Amino acid sequence: MRALRLTAWKSDPELVEVPDPEPGPGQVVVKVGGAGACHSDLHLMRDFGPGLLSWGPPFTLGHENAGWVHALGPGARGPEVGTPVAVHGAWGCGACARCRAGVESYCEDPAGSPGPGGGGGLGQDGGMAEYLLVPDARHLVPLPDGLDPVAAAPLTDAALTPYHAVRRSWPKLTPGSTAVVIGAGGLGHLAVQIVKATTAARVVVVDVRQAARDDALAHGADHAVAPGEGAAAEIRAGTPGGRGADVVIDCVGSGDTLALGVAVTRVLGDLTIVGIAGGTLPVSFFGVPYEVSVQTTYWGSRPELAEVLDLAARGLIAPRVTTIPLERAGEAYRLLESGELVGRAVVTP
Ligand code: NAD
Ligand code: ZN
Ligand code: ZN
Repeated sequence: MRALRLTAWKSDPELVEVPDPEPGPGQVVVKVGGAGACHSDLHLMRDFGPGLLSWGPPFTLGHENAGWVHALGPGARGPEVGTPVAVHGAWGCGACARCRAGVESYCEDPAGSPGPGGGGGLGQDGGMAEYLLVPDARHLVPLPDGLDPVAAAPLTDAALTPYHAVRRSWPKLTPGSTAVVIGAGGLGHLAVQIVKATTAARVVVVDVRQAARDDALAHGADHAVAPGEGAAAEIRAGTPGGRGADVVIDCVGSGDTLALGVAVTRVLGDLTIVGIAGGTLPVSFFGVPYEVSVQTTYWGSRPELAEVLDLAARGLIAPRVTTIPLERAGEAYRLLESGELVGRAVVTP
């Protein structure tokens, strides 16, 4: 089969011919319907190198995957062949407390996981290929009626990741509250919809691109702001009493966006760093509003993925998807990198 593989750090991936995967005991092969192109893949190609992570190339890209069950290995207890499924992409040991709760992105025994890295497309072979080997049927979540694998692929990361971030802040997203989403790309365009679908908060979106701001406004954002001088004051002015945002979800994570985030977060608010652009945030007693909680979040849990699929199946959230065939997968990353994309590019075999 064909597969888009990252063969070395600081390089572009290559479309190559590899053997079709065969499911071993307990494993499942999924026929890929779609694989989302995430900005994290660009970080893998451009920014990461030896020593930063415990894993590395070569592996097939694609960590946002959905498709159909193609073959079950001996003893695998999964949905029957042909069932449309989303793949929960964090593959942990399966036995630690976090894995047993479905929070495999925070596996406490990574050495016990089926391979290097965090899952398929992140150290192990991912879904930018015709077939995807999934190490255990527990990672598959059957798609609810009305959801097809192409639309479902971005739900497994571009929606699941902000869903997890928003969900943990639900108690602060009361009526009258304000949420700020910084970066309205693949993750951010869904973060806006997720806040709108699951809370009564007002949503302010921040993006450097006019097209991304316009798209967010057309899909539920109450206000859109261009970053730069005056952005923090504009955001604060739109909150009751100018007190600031109750929750900020930073889907960029650069020094600039973190500074904006802390400048607009309200006392007792949440500042959640989702983007991995490598910025730092100086924290000091008078430099950060009182009792602001700052956290990073990584991906989301398997139970949360089921909740995300339900939101999408009921039409409460809808990724904007541009499909690109596998033989032109490089184009997906080119569009993502150049800022020409609105929503998510999904690569289809
Ligand atoms: P994307 O390229 O689709 O979206 C990024 C958006 O941010 C774009 O719309 C861009 O115009 C905007 N932007 C860039 N710089 C900005 C700035 N200074 N101010 C305001 N807006 C700005 O990327 P994506 O796939 O949505 O991923 C976003 C980030 O999240 C990446 O760093 C990615 O690696 C990371 N990520 C993290 C997790 C996690 O679990 N924490 C999961 C997936 C992706
Ligand atoms: Zn990702
Ligand atoms: Zn574990």
